[in-house]
Amino acid sequence: MQKCKYGPTNTYMINTPLGEFQLECCSYGIHSLHHMPKVFKVEKTASVVVSDQRYPDNGYQYKPVKDCVNWLQEFFDNKEPSSLPTICWSEEKTTDFHLNIWKTLAERVKFGQTVSYGQLAEMSGYNKRFSRAVGHSMRENPVVLIVPCHRVILASKKPGHYAAGQKDEMKQWLLNHERERKVQEP
Ligand SMILES: [Zn+2]
Repeated sequence: MQKCKYGPTNTYMINTPLGEFQLECCSYGIHSLHHMPKVFKVEKTASVVVSDQRYPDNGYQYKPVKDCVNWLQEFFDNKEPSSLPTICWSEEKTTDFHLNIWKTLAERVKFGQTVSYGQLAEMSGYNKRFSRAVGHSMRENPVVLIVPCHRVILASKKPGHYAAGQKDEMKQWLLNHERERKVQEP
């Protein structure tokens, strides 16, 4: 268990069409979300559910868990998720540069959009020559999908790497998935 200024965290396994994601959150927000399977596999009809958790809730489920499950459900239903779950950055041992890049990406690059590494640097208030540093921020991203590092691609429009090159197939799948976006009902 980690602790942050909001109290102790809990760890959950969330099953999705792309297999299990591990979520760590406190009562305030998400600390991390990681994709666990080593081999990329899609099960399109799998529903998004909490399949396991490290500590029992004692009748009080952290709100960020519900928000994250709802967000993932909408995401896998090809919809622009209606709201961004709260992320608790309080204990993230990192640099202001990474934090700035992650926040800009989460707030401004929407479902179905892509940006290049250099564009994301510029959007975050840096020179576009910081594209290599942005690549580093993407490898360090603690909250996959919600901080959508898969939407950051090469200036040539090629996808580029995902998870330092270990999950490139997943990045391509995510980009294709978002192109099939459904029109939202009013
Ligand atoms: Zn926290």
